[in-house]
Amino acid sequence: MIVFKTCDSLRDYLSTFREESQSLGLVPTMGALHEGHLSLSKLSVRQNNLTIVSVFVNPIQFNNPADLEKYPRDLEADLDLLEPVLGFRGIVFAPSVEEMYPKQIDTQYDFGPLAEVMEGAFRPGHFNGVGIVVNRLFRIIEPDRAYFGEKDFQQLAVIRKLVELEKFGPEIIPCPIIREADGLAMSSRNQRLSAEHRAAAPVIFQALSEAARLYGRSDITDLKRQIIAMIHATKILKVEYVEFADEETLMPVYKTSWPNPVRCFIAVYADEVRLIDNLRVS
Ligand code: AMP
Repeated sequence: MIVFKTCDSLRDYLSTFREESQSLGLVPTMGALHEGHLSLSKLSVRQNNLTIVSVFVNPIQFNNPADLEKYPRDLEADLDLLEPVLGFRGIVFAPSVEEMYPKQIDTQYDFGPLAEVMEGAFRPGHFNGVGIVVNRLFRIIEPDRAYFGEKDFQQLAVIRKLVELEKFGPEIIPCPIIREADGLAMSSRNQRLSAEHRAAAPVIFQALSEAARLYGRSDITDLKRQIIAMIHATKILKVEYVEFADEETLMPVYKTSWPNPVRCFIAVYADEVRLIDNLRVS
């Protein structure tokens, strides 16, 4: 496993690799790696000759400065986790902010309505920042495939739109959500939960499972109320949104008879730590 910190050194290495017309997989991450990230990396190793895992905490996708400041960072621990997964078939790209953004960036993407709901509504500028960094990684690395988790389901839709807008990019491979034994979706932010919040957090997946069980049986407005009540019964978790949305368009769904698959999406605050999760309900 080789570690590159500059775009030029990575590009140089990849130019010789490409001459041999081998396939290249990219797994973009912000580090503080866990089994969720490793599952994406393992799939890429299976499907490609070479896998690049990028580790970069992208400042321009944080709408909350405190969240950026407290985001966990530990490259040495990340490398220890990646070594057995990537071995000689992988590269870690861990650039600095200056390396990724040597110039002022003023790109404004119009991802359309799918970026205006849920995460787009509550995190202004977030998806634009994601689009900029992912497009930059795609341009530097030119992967054949890129791997994204369904944990950030809306992000997946935005990335597909990005490839369409840029008319440039790899095949996008969606990967299932990896959970702790108690159902909590793995997340780098889980490290920041207090013991009390960590103990309460599995209710998010329980609420999603309840939504899947009741979907089609009760009215969506009632269902939302029930889910919010379930989470608020913990007294220490605060719901930001609960939404039922069409998997294709991400537009909110208000009826339980719906032609496309529907997902329930939840965002919750555990003190200042923001957690998101989702589950297909139809
Ligand atoms: P992040 O480091 O949070 O930006 O995540 C990097 C990639 O890993 C994104 O594509 C995420 O959707 C994905 N990911 C994060 N957590 C999980 C998880 N629990 N299961 C599957 N994929 C995940």
